[in-house]
Amino acid sequence: MRFADIAGHEEVKRRLREMVDNERIPHALLLEGPSGTGKFMLARAFAQYIHCENRHDGDSCGECPACRQHEAFNHIDTIFSFPVVKKSGRTALSDDYRDTFGEFIAESPYMDFTDWVSRLDNVNAQPMIYVEEGAELLRRLTYMTRRSKYKVVLLWLPERLKEETANKLLKLVEEPFGDTIFVMVSNNGRGILPTIYSRTQRITVPRYSDGELEDVLRTQGMDEATAADIVRIADGSVNQAWKIAHVSAERRKYFDLFVELMRKAYGRKVLELRGWSKAVSELGREPAMQFIDYCCRLIRESFVMHLHVDRLLTLSANEREFVNKFFTFINEKNVVDMIELFDRSRRDIAANGNAKIIFFDLAVRVIMLIRRK
Ligand SMILES: [Zn+2]
Repeated sequence: MRFADIAGHEEVKRRLREMVDNERIPHALLLEGPSGTGKFMLARAFAQYIHCENRHDGDSCGECPACRQHEAFNHIDTIFSFPVVKKSGRTALSDDYRDTFGEFIAESPYMDFTDWVSRLDNVNAQPMIYVEEGAELLRRLTYMTRRSKYKVVLLWLPERLKEETANKLLKLVEEPFGDTIFVMVSNNGRGILPTIYSRTQRITVPRYSDGELEDVLRTQGMDEATAADIVRIADGSVNQAWKIAHVSAERRKYFDLFVELMRKAYGRKVLELRGWSKAVSELGREPAMQFIDYCCRLIRESFVMHLHVDRLLTLSANEREFVNKFFTFINEKNVVDMIELFDRSRRDIAANGNAKIIFFDLAVRVIMLIRRK
């Protein structure tokens, strides 16, 4: 991983680069900031920059043996330490999951924690950095022969260090073994034990700007319209943006069904509404209830339009466009009954009612309500 491979963060890169160039590398460095901004990539690029035998233009060369080892995730003087769960009948060392972690950072470079948990042996356990891992680090740093000038420990999520582990590491961080550098990467600096936190030199990695985030998402294959829409609500986080994208695909489906219902109900197309009920009932119980929640939200947003309250920012572009015309059909005479109707259908679905009948009944009632003025 070279600095050039990472989007944005020019100021952070400059500071990291200068530490190496001026030979002022702290023994314990902490990169902290919100999740989903590429902090661990910066840490990896930093380690590679430290080890590179042919640095130039403020970046590692990407070609020397050290760089190649780094790219292949097997640099001899770089140790990865991260939260794990105990493997059955075994210890809880990061190395037990070394291959899994390698796949994770390759496939999910912005390192979504939920994604990491889903790859571990017990998805219900809380991953931690256990005391065995502290002892293992101590052992490796003491006995491992060193090829480079610096041994680098890349520690992901120090907020998940068990207290005993932290106590073991404290000695290492305080009185570094030879030239050992700890680079810690945290999504939540306030969650780190103060004894560790206070001994680190800290760099805050800010959230991505909307423009930077849009570029990252586009590079990752998100289509232009979706990316432009999502950056407004993704808080500068790549992981957050993809979660929203997933949800918004569902939302798009619900939107289409809602529009279809309202158009057909207004046109009194009873037969076609029968087909619509069938399609909605085939979504399954949970999605059907989510769909009803979605309908209620759009109806409320449409009603709010009458009050000229600018709340439409919570809507996507296509929803805004629709609501801008649809709001004239939702008024004081029908809004309460409309919401009640959807609520009742939701309760009936939750109570295991026949979804096809419930949705058809709902559709027929919407026919009457939609024309009430
Ligand atoms: Zn190199």
